[in-house]
Amino acid sequence: MTIDPNLIAKIAAEVMARVQERQPETVSAGEGIFPTVDEAVAAARAAQKQLKKLSIEKREELIQAMRQAACDNAELLAEMGVSESGMGRVSDKVIKNRLAATKTPGTEDLKSEAWSGDRGLTLIEMGPYGVIGSITPTTNPSETVICNGIGMIAAGNAVVFSPHPTAKNTSLVTIKLLNKAIIQAGGPPNLLTAVAEPSLAATNAMMQHPDINMLVATGGPAVVKAVMSCGKKAIGAGAGNPPAVVDETADIEKAAKDIIDGCSFDNNLPCIAEKEVIVVGSVADKLMAYMQRYGAYLISGPDVDRLAKVILTEKAELAAAGCTEKPKKSYAVNKNYVGKDARYILSQIGIQVPDSIRAVICETPADHPFVVEELMMPVLPVVQVKDIDAAIELAVKVEHGNRHTAIMHSKNVDNLTKLAKAIETTIFVKNAPSYAGIGVGGEGFTTFTIAGPTGEGLTSPRSFTRQRRCVLVDALSIV
Ligand code: NAD
Repeated sequence: MTIDPNLIAKIAAEVMARVQERQPETVSAGEGIFPTVDEAVAAARAAQKQLKKLSIEKREELIQAMRQAACDNAELLAEMGVSESGMGRVSDKVIKNRLAATKTPGTEDLKSEAWSGDRGLTLIEMGPYGVIGSITPTTNPSETVICNGIGMIAAGNAVVFSPHPTAKNTSLVTIKLLNKAIIQAGGPPNLLTAVAEPSLAATNAMMQHPDINMLVATGGPAVVKAVMSCGKKAIGAGAGNPPAVVDETADIEKAAKDIIDGCSFDNNLPCIAEKEVIVVGSVADKLMAYMQRYGAYLISGPDVDRLAKVILTEKAELAAAGCTEKPKKSYAVNKNYVGKDARYILSQIGIQVPDSIRAVICETPADHPFVVEELMMPVLPVVQVKDIDAAIELAVKVEHGNRHTAIMHSKNVDNLTKLAKAIETTIFVKNAPSYAGIGVGGEGFTTFTIAGPTGEGLTSPRSFTRQRRCVLVDALSIV
């Protein structure tokens, strides 16, 4: 029997393609991926012991190598993130990966304090916690691993990551790339580890593991509550629902452009992104007209109701357990539309638009679920109010006490100050897109872990340290 050489060639090509497809799944020693939580924690513990022996200068070299690897792979990780999670925009994720790689602070963030005087010298230094358990979201999978990896290692720690299972491959490949860069720069293997099959059970085992010294959770309310109830030092970076307030003194055209730029960035996945607009009535029409000029598509009437049926799921809940009252309606976000393009979302209600449309806007009442829920998609409700006091009252209400992020467009410093004082958010951006708050087009360093609930704010290496005091009596003060 003769076999068709074309068939052999076809089979060979298929086998090669499968082998190549699997390539990223292979794990070499030191790249941080382990079958069990115990092994991942033990390897990170051993790596941290070695890191402690290195100088801070060497540690900084490892950080530089991590930055380079993350920049070199920014496109690959962005493409993986979008194709695996089905959320976001590749070009924006490239910016986010580069941002995490270049603007997350390194060892320079660690500062010592000293008191000297008659009785000698007392020093406070920032030391590592040891091994940190970091739980990361599906919305910023590679970005959070890069940012937490750099910050936690700069502070002298090793990290066991618990990535979201829906962004498993992107997260694990990021961990492997960073470990490889560290090893090539002369650092220890396995400074970043994870299990090969992330799951809720593995995250719980990691949180309870006695060799995990600190927990850092970046995600929604459930995971923040989980780490805060663990009995360990915990940093919780939770959900936001950032309002963008516009008053009559604002540069309305710029406000419209900034709001659309911010809300459409990575299809609204960032926790800091504009989630609803609250505008003083006298300038509302002008604002919405400019928003359309800068890439928004306005829907109204029955189209808003049809969209709500697509992007929300309705739940009937009793107001209280055992309550005999009529069930009240509540809504949850339909995860299938989180981080999707505006064009795709509109196509679901039969509206075809070109790629240049980056966001959907609609006027809604203040208590509409689009306003109340954290949608995380480029659908932006606009609520008109009578004046700035009403705007501030509503902004505080819909931010839900998350104390995460707020944005305001105004030239009146009294109004800006009033909202900032009332809303008490961790980030308050004035006259710019929300992303200026994490260092894109604004001053300051970046982070992808904004700790509102536990109060560290924009986390940086110093957030991942313990303060230690060293006292020398009657010496070393030289005056
Ligand atoms: P998510 O809460 O579903 O998941 C986040 C992580 O927590 C995942 O790794 C998940 O597996 C884990 N997790 C979820 N529930 C858990 C539980 N009960 N116990 C243990 N682990 C649990 O969130 P997501 O969809 O991945 O991310 C979006 C959310 O994260 C949004 O609410 C967004 O605002 C928030 N977020 C906040 C920040 C910040 O810096 N504050 C940054 C990014 C995202």
